[in-house]
Amino acid sequence: EKNDKDVKEEMHKKEDCKPAVFIPVDRLPEIQEARLRLPILAEEQVIMEAVREKECVVLCGETGSGKTTQVPQFLYEAGYASSGGIIGVTEPRRVAAISMSHRVATEMNLPSGVVSYQIRYEGNVTENTKIKFMTDGVLLKEIQKDFLLQKYSVVIIDEAHERSVYTDILIGLLSRIVPLRNKKGLPMKLIIMSATLRVEDFTENKRLFRTPPPVIKVEARQFAVTVHFNKRTPVDNYTGEAFRKICKIHRMLPPGGILVFLTGQAEVHSVCRRLRKAFPYRPHREKCAVFSTQSQSLSQSLPRINLDSYSALPVDEGDEDRQAGIDDNDNEGSDLELGDHPDKEKADPSIPLYVLPLYSLLAPEQQAKVFSPPPTGARLCVVATNVAETSLTIPGIKYVVDCGRVKKRFYDRVTGVSSFKVTWISQASANQRAGRAGRTEPGHCYRLYSSAVFGDFSLFSEAEITRRPVDDLVLQMKDLNIEKVVNFPFPTPPSSEVLISAEQLLISLGALEEPPRRGRLGEMERARLSCPITPLGRAMAAFPVAPRYAKMLALGRQQGCMPYIITIVAAMTVREIFEDYDRPAGSEEENTKMAGKKARCVQMRRLWAGQGQSVQLGDLMVLLGAVGACEFAGCTHQFCEENGLRYKAMLEIRRLRGQLTNAVNAVCSDAGVYVDNKMAPPTASQVLCLRQIVLAGLGDHIARRVQAEELLDPKWRNGYKTPLLDDPVFIHPSSALHKTLPEFVVYQEIMETTKMYMRGVCAVQAEWIPKLLPQYCHFSAPEESPAPWFCPLSGRVKCHQQSTFYRVSWKLPAIEM
Ligand code: ADP
Ligand code: MG
Repeated sequence: EKNDKDVKEEMHKKEDCKPAVFIPVDRLPEIQEARLRLPILAEEQVIMEAVREKECVVLCGETGSGKTTQVPQFLYEAGYASSGGIIGVTEPRRVAAISMSHRVATEMNLPSGVVSYQIRYEGNVTENTKIKFMTDGVLLKEIQKDFLLQKYSVVIIDEAHERSVYTDILIGLLSRIVPLRNKKGLPMKLIIMSATLRVEDFTENKRLFRTPPPVIKVEARQFAVTVHFNKRTPVDNYTGEAFRKICKIHRMLPPGGILVFLTGQAEVHSVCRRLRKAFPYRPHREKCAVFSTQSQSLSQSLPRINLDSYSALPVDEGDEDRQAGIDDNDNEGSDLELGDHPDKEKADPSIPLYVLPLYSLLAPEQQAKVFSPPPTGARLCVVATNVAETSLTIPGIKYVVDCGRVKKRFYDRVTGVSSFKVTWISQASANQRAGRAGRTEPGHCYRLYSSAVFGDFSLFSEAEITRRPVDDLVLQMKDLNIEKVVNFPFPTPPSSEVLISAEQLLISLGALEEPPRRGRLGEMERARLSCPITPLGRAMAAFPVAPRYAKMLALGRQQGCMPYIITIVAAMTVREIFEDYDRPAGSEEENTKMAGKKARCVQMRRLWAGQGQSVQLGDLMVLLGAVGACEFAGCTHQFCEENGLRYKAMLEIRRLRGQLTNAVNAVCSDAGVYVDNKMAPPTASQVLCLRQIVLAGLGDHIARRVQAEELLDPKWRNGYKTPLLDDPVFIHPSSALHKTLPEFVVYQEIMETTKMYMRGVCAVQAEWIPKLLPQYCHFSAPEESPAPWFCPLSGRVKCHQQSTFYRVSWKLPAIEM
């Protein structure tokens, strides 16, 4: 263990070796003192020398060792932001980009205009910005505008161990950009930072770096963490188990913060709610007196409660608690471990516990609360999803409760079906989570699973790129003139099967040129993987949405449909715009309240679906109606609350509409679209047009109601057939088209829950399919067709043609060609 004096002496020695440039930073004494305690400070010289000498440096260090907050400061002091270029730092999560920029600004005593952040919709970057934190997607967009990233002198890729898709792609791109910059005499540095030692995918990958970059390891001053496994086989009810464990820790163990890992927002709120009920943090004065006199052991170990600061505690009754009325269906008391008497599980309400939720969708000011010290005398308990695993270091955590699971989106690359599944984490993740307990003193980690289960975990989490479609990435790469995407230096390459289907989709959307149909099989395969981008593809790449939606935007100018298409696309891109009232509530009273809200919500959706023609636009009309009504009412919290809309989602849609409108105007300078908050509903002919535009974008997501022959099997009742799935898919009961069951529909995605349900369903007409999606049809002359005739209007010979939809051979109406 190095003590402060040693560290300071080392620092002092280092002053001699500092580069000629040294930009002083005026830090507050207490900040400086805290910095000196961080393990990374001891490595400053090694790191900065490596950065000076090499183009790329890899830095590994435990979470909390100071990578994110300190490395940008080292670079700043060494003058990397003082000769024109700035320091860029990418984070896979918005939370981290925002909170880290605030923290570094505070540490350096600089305004947010100098240490800034940029995320998809917002930021505080100015002309004076020297250090810029951003999400990885933001930097990828910037590469499209300026491939050499000339405004940066250094780019730091943070949290590279998370292996987010954009991080992976950025590393691949930067492995080319950095040498190019240096060749052009515009020096640039790349720093890859990881919280785990598993960096071979970057360093040993000959396609990325011909000479492996140096790896610098930061020895973290990690205290011992005692890991406690559950002895029994894991219980399914891990939220209940987590709750009991927290109660026990809080009642029986010495002071120190508790950090709990669960899988999702609903679970986080459920446990928060139960904890707040069990340990209310606004105790009456007499209760506090009881606390300080009667429970002797605790009053000795906990500092005395300062009642004044305590009564000033924030009471979260707003935003979060609205979602918190959910309890899990757990059978409490049935499986108490460690020989507990059920009565003991009744938490002592006199002990204050300061409970805070933490997850990525939480509002930033709520998230920031975890960094401030808890009120005097109270114990901090943060109930989090895996955002707390590596991106954020919460001070003062001594106990970790780990459910051992994580919620992940799964995507079937053959069928395109998505689902969210809770799965076991990797051993690396479990150890990261445990490590959170030993930052300031020895700690304890309670794993809600047995050591045998842990032994079965995979060693590391797999890269995200292997789990998701890549059509958006392929389009962006083509836009960067990377034609042979298979040759791109991916840290972990996606399978060629996935790449081929991405190119195929982009060809169908008209974003890539059709490959020649000549040549031998191998050559054709290769040609299929290197199709150049079309002008339409370039326009699509300029829109910050997935290619299917970009296509809709590219077609949106007809009949004044653009504002509607922008709104529909924005609403489809934002996660969950409706509140979920289907979850079981806690008390009878809450149940009634929730049922009332649900009824109102159902009624509103029916209203938004419109009448006549607009009903055919289906769920997309509901989205359009909801956004329209909400904006008409001024997009207030109250309107959302009363009508079952998620306020945060509506604000996000508003920002995205603005952004998409700008993008549309930039792509076609004469489009003249503006965001109209008092948008009139679309006319009947506009609705027809909107449905056709949607069909052109979602052409490969088509489904047809089952035919008579399939109905012999009861599982097909009310089901739909899709070209790729053997099993039926269904229209969800909450869909606007649930009663109508049109013959042909297109859908946004298929989500597998109790059944395979289509989300975002819109009805289309059979005769549009051969016209708008000829690429998916086989044409032939109809059986009984008139002979070809001369059309004086077009001056062409015309004939009727009949088509069938590829793979499924659906016979489509004959059309004039
Ligand atoms: P790493 O990136 O290596 O995980 P960080 O640079 O994020 O480490 O954190 C270094 C230290 O700074 C940690 O000990 C953490 O507690 C502290 N820290 C980070 N953010 C804040 C904040 N907003 N408020 C107070 N302390 C913080
Ligand atoms: Mg970090």
